[in-house]
Amino acid sequence: MNVRSAQTYWLENQSVPNAARTTPILQPHTSCDVLIMGGGITGALVAYELHRAGIDTVLIDKRTLGRGSTAASTALIQYEIDVPLHQLIQQVGEQDAVLAYKLCLWAIYKLRDIVGRLDTRCGFNQKHSLYYAAKADDIDMLREEYEARAKYGFQVAWLDRQAIKAQFGFDAPGGILSQEAAELDAMDLTQALYRYLIDRGLRVFEETTAEEIDYGFKRARIRTNHDTEIFARKIVYATGYETQQMMQRDQAAYADALKLKSTYALVTEPLANMPEALRRSLIWDTDEPYFYARTARDNRLMLGGEDEWVVDAAERDAMIPQKQEKLLKKINELFPDVEAKPHLTWAGTFAETQDGLPYIGEHERYPHSYFALGFGGNGITFSITAANIIRNLFQNGDCNYGGMFRFGR
Ligand SMILES: Cc1cc2nc3c(=O)[nH]c(=O)nc-3n(C[C@H](O)[C@H](O)[C@H](O)COP(=O)(O)OP(=O)(O)OC[C@H]3O[C@@H](n4cnc5c(N)ncnc54)[C@H](O)[C@@H]3O)c2cc1C
Repeated sequence: MNVRSAQTYWLENQSVPNAARTTPILQPHTSCDVLIMGGGITGALVAYELHRAGIDTVLIDKRTLGRGSTAASTALIQYEIDVPLHQLIQQVGEQDAVLAYKLCLWAIYKLRDIVGRLDTRCGFNQKHSLYYAAKADDIDMLREEYEARAKYGFQVAWLDRQAIKAQFGFDAPGGILSQEAAELDAMDLTQALYRYLIDRGLRVFEETTAEEIDYGFKRARIRTNHDTEIFARKIVYATGYETQQMMQRDQAAYADALKLKSTYALVTEPLANMPEALRRSLIWDTDEPYFYARTARDNRLMLGGEDEWVVDAAERDAMIPQKQEKLLKKINELFPDVEAKPHLTWAGTFAETQDGLPYIGEHERYPHSYFALGFGGNGITFSITAANIIRNLFQNGDCNYGGMFRFGR
């Protein structure tokens, strides 16, 4: 599956060599406790958690590390899920909805802690986040959301039109200002994590595909494209949005619960006059399709959104020029004094679930396997949660909050 357009900002700016250069040749027969399939940001975060717990882990990727959808990510790190908290409470109940939000909040600080152990800062910046109404009709919904978040202890403030004008300099009828959010460079983080883990003994093999999997009685046997075999007590599927195809091929239940769509992102040339508000805060709106903006290295802006229900790669990529125009128009409407010149625009395909929550844990069709599918707008924070759940499942066979992310919920 083609998960993104060929060139993205992170690939263009890769200043580090591929992390796995120093990994050994895959032996004809390799054994491990856990085989992670997929070397994107999810695979890296799961590997980090398992490796630190002393679990013997091997990771394979059919491409090179981080070259799936990770390379397209705009990596806004937020606790806010695609489905607003007050609506998620209606869908899944108060306890699970609040817990899902709190887990994403916890993930922001866990990411800060992880980045602190690595050899680069991975562009990690703690930020505020402004979720603003694109039109007056959205104010009631947003106000309800503000009240729900305040009630459950999230650090939020309500900004009316005057306050948004004063603090952000643009016109919007109202919005929620969250104190807790961040941004990072997903590709840098992925590469830095693999460097860290390979230095500490993680076995990583690129350009290695699982061609045949025999889910035996006590462990799985995975035959690779190099005609080698890996024996693993557990497999972790960190195969991103391509997992749906595998499930459809296997006629596995719930495969159709995932809805694929495409999204667009743009990075500007360095700005002479970056708005101060954007240095402090991510911004995103209630529009459909929605719009968001963050800063990126060298005084650039990264803009995104303009989602479309398109999966075909040619059709998706053909829309890049028109999406570029729309993203630029939006930022110009908000900040007419900013001269935002496009540097690069790209597209990525991603998956949504009905409740905005990921699929994490076991699937009845795949014995000895765990899934780490951080679908929705919060893929990276969900991957942190997935890593934690999977370590718990492996060590204890259970996890207190795994139920709300299960297939078939
Ligand atoms: C444009 C865009 C913007 C985004 N913005 C945000 C954001 O602002 N905030 C946020 O939190 N998230 C965001 N996301 C989502 C986040 O980036 C995803 O969670 C992430 O890209 C998915 O990572 P992954 O590692 O699960 O999948 P991938 O990066 O796709 O990695 C999966 C890997 O599995 C490998 N693979 C697949 N099948 C096999 C196989 N059979 N054998 C071996 N290897 C295999 C692939 O080669 C690939 O490297 C965004 C995504 C996109 C596309």
